[in-house]
Amino acid sequence: MRIAILGAGFTGLSAAYQLLKKGHDVTIFEKENSLGGLAVGFSDPNWDWTLERAYHHWFTNDDAILKLAGEINHKVIIKRPSTDIFIKGKTLPFDNALSLLSFPHLPIVDRIRMGMVIFYLKQINNYKKLEGKKAANWIRKWMGEKAFSLIWDPLLSGKFGEYKNQIALTWFWARIKKRTPKLAYPEGGFQMFADHLGAEIKKLGGKILLNTEVKNIEDLKKEYDKIIVTLPSPVFAKIANLPQGYKKRITSIPHLHAQVLILILKKPFMNKTYWLNITDKNFPFLVLAEHTNFMNPKNYGGQHILYIGNYLPQNHPYLKMDADELLKKFDPFLRKINPTYHSSLITHHLFVGPFAQPVVTVDYPKKIPAFKTPLKSIYLANLDMVYPWDRGTNYAVELGRQVASIVSDE
Ligand SMILES: Cc1cc2nc3c(=O)[nH]c(=O)nc-3n(C[C@H](O)[C@H](O)[C@H](O)COP(=O)(O)OP(=O)(O)OC[C@H]3O[C@@H](n4cnc5c(N)ncnc54)[C@H](O)[C@@H]3O)c2cc1C
Repeated sequence: MRIAILGAGFTGLSAAYQLLKKGHDVTIFEKENSLGGLAVGFSDPNWDWTLERAYHHWFTNDDAILKLAGEINHKVIIKRPSTDIFIKGKTLPFDNALSLLSFPHLPIVDRIRMGMVIFYLKQINNYKKLEGKKAANWIRKWMGEKAFSLIWDPLLSGKFGEYKNQIALTWFWARIKKRTPKLAYPEGGFQMFADHLGAEIKKLGGKILLNTEVKNIEDLKKEYDKIIVTLPSPVFAKIANLPQGYKKRITSIPHLHAQVLILILKKPFMNKTYWLNITDKNFPFLVLAEHTNFMNPKNYGGQHILYIGNYLPQNHPYLKMDADELLKKFDPFLRKINPTYHSSLITHHLFVGPFAQPVVTVDYPKKIPAFKTPLKSIYLANLDMVYPWDRGTNYAVELGRQVASIVSDE
């Protein structure tokens, strides 16, 4: 079969790889000038490795993508970087039972309660029994008001803003269940990994057309037997003539855009923290991720890399700011964590990932699109279909594999 795949993120690349192995004729259409989608990277003349525009890592149980890395012989590095929390002006460890038990800002009863609830969630395998419940209400009820307002409310609020009280408990469960203390990372960065996969796709006879935006899906119908769309649903709705009811349903999932400011520094920003959750609601960002406290700075010419991350709704004023304006806004808050960082700042970059985070509300399961669309021979596989897990490249690889097997078998 002649198959067109729209999008060269990990869903598109994975689908292409599987279909080529089954002997199909595959062409990928990608709007940008490189592979990788939301996990796309960039490089610098001083660096040996590429760097993602938005912080990325794998969990050690991300089986689909780790298996794929093994299959194409791409080395994976596994480390245990530190995950901390910034609370009441201090950075505290927040990634194991001991750190929970010694957490200073909660009475011991609440700490034990929080630890037990996290343990309970980790033990649950059948998430279906958690469906229909809202994370905020449930956390408040079982962990207590103090733990909720000190830790979880600010984190839900930072991630989902106005939707924070609507978020499904299954989403929260998946975050707790999936997390592994050790994290994995492809040698050379996600861009090198995507390029490696792209090279394997070409070896198998696949074609990859970069800088090729598909503006109307009808244009491809004559030339291809089947078309797989891996673009965000609102983009799919723009390039295809979809029946009204279907269009309304697939575009009813709200999305947030990811905004990431990257600081390149001469010196480390934090001591050893890789991941810092910010719980102070006055801070204008949600997370700091110091990549070079995870991967060795020598891969980046000895430079240190700090990501400052936010998820924002379409109309948020930060999305209208450029990198300088944003840094000016963030600067007083960054100084609260590292008062002298500015003297070691080399440069900074800004990245916006559109439609990067579907908002997983309690009614989400009803909204998830199917692989088959109402349009003949056109299939959809995008990150809105990842549930209850938090969307990520591991699930993109799984989606790609699933859609490939449906398309190939029909
Ligand atoms: C801030 C942030 C942090 C993340 N952290 C992690 C992490 O730690 N670990 C992890 O595994 N994942 C992480 N992810 C998620 C991960 O990047 C995505 O889930 C995954 O890459 C989705 O892949 P995809 O192929 O489904 O979609 P996308 O990556 O969105 O790919 C879609 C592709 O379609 C292209 N396209 C769009 N319109 C057109 C058109 N009209 N014609 C042709 N091409 C088009 C786009 O350019 C893009 O390349 C993170 C994402 C963000 C934003």
